[in-house]
Amino acid sequence: MRKISVFGATGSIGESTFDLLMRQGGAAAFDIVALSGGANVARLAEQAIALRADLAVTAYDACLPALRDALAGTGIAVAAGPQALIETADRPADWVMSAIVGAAGLAPGFRALAQGATLALANKESLVTAGPLLLAEAARHGARILPVDSEHSAVFQALAGEDMAAVERIIITASGGAFRDWPLERLAAATVAEASSHPNWAMGQRITIDSASMFNKALEVIETKEYFQVDPDRIEVLVHPESLVHALVGFNDGALMAHLGAPDMRHAIGYALNWPERRDLPVKRLDLAAIGSLTFRAPDLERFPALRLAREVMAIGGTAGAAFNAAKEAALDAFLAGRIGFLDMARLVETVLSQMSSRQGLGNAAVSLDNVMLTDAEARALASEHISTGRI
Ligand code: NAD
Ligand code: MG
Repeated sequence: MRKISVFGATGSIGESTFDLLMRQGGAAAFDIVALSGGANVARLAEQAIALRADLAVTAYDACLPALRDALAGTGIAVAAGPQALIETADRPADWVMSAIVGAAGLAPGFRALAQGATLALANKESLVTAGPLLLAEAARHGARILPVDSEHSAVFQALAGEDMAAVERIIITASGGAFRDWPLERLAAATVAEASSHPNWAMGQRITIDSASMFNKALEVIETKEYFQVDPDRIEVLVHPESLVHALVGFNDGALMAHLGAPDMRHAIGYALNWPERRDLPVKRLDLAAIGSLTFRAPDLERFPALRLAREVMAIGGTAGAAFNAAKEAALDAFLAGRIGFLDMARLVETVLSQMSSRQGLGNAAVSLDNVMLTDAEARALASEHISTGRI
């Protein structure tokens, strides 16, 4: 039986992963090594019981007693805290889902690679902050990383059996998020509630707001560069409001291979779970005649500066991705707390990035775990200084 661990099991990607594991036979078909979650220990315990996991881990020490109570008498072990998450990743597993949100997802995924596990990577922040490190670690241990982002899974599938030398460009699509058609003036006053509703996808709140600001797409452009090792000039973003075409790969003979599917993350998760095979998945089949038409347009870099910043990050290189992601996470925290406005997020990230790149030679920094963590901490500290002084 395949040994499986799921990090971030109680989140949006985690729940979809849980759903597929249950549908594909649950505890009878998989040997579940560990599940991790956050403060929702009741749900984590339910999942652990349903899948008969060996271990359930909460990210927070304060939640450990409640988790222990919820699992009393089940024989399922419990643990808590960031160090426990890393030790959990050291437990031998064949397939590991990395679905913690934010930079906190990097360390467990990185460790899982060291024991040769196949890493199903939803945590795009890992590639943005430490792409070269992750790929080198995977190569060193003969481990495989499978993308679990709808666009990257789509590209991965379009590339099956192809030679990268024949690839001219990779196009990832963007729904445009909640504010696709909002004018700039209105964006300035956008509220958290408005930014938290996505037109097509049901996702965690943070990635939903990142979709509204297009920071999600900015992260995905960098993710594309790192995962597929392509020149940034060959990566394009196309706004596609219907979210049915997830990505396209353009080849040197003029062919464009597009991947279409319903906006349901269980496709990308299931593809990674069953790779290299395909299995029946509970996703809606598209009726293209009923859909009738698909539309595309170029992204607006003035209203969504995050996409421009992604290009700068790739041009700087080194640990710029770690600075960018951490500043973005800090800006999002401040927006969620009502401390800064929606458009201030991109301004703040740009300020932190330009300060750090001029001061510290971000581009020359080796992408080691230590440097990534240091850069992350520095960017958060700078962002918080700007937020407190109001100089954004
Ligand atoms: P979510 O907020 O719904 O779930 C996050 C999970 O991580 C939860 O289990 C939570 O308890 C846990 N978590 C949160 N903070 C943590 C911390 N500091 N330490 C340890 N665990 C922590 O997020 P999500 O929408 O499922 O996204 C997860 C990841 O997948 C993100 O990196 C996101 O960018 C990526 N992703 C999500 C989708 C989607 O459809 N939701 C699509 C593509 C990629
Ligand atoms: Mg995506």
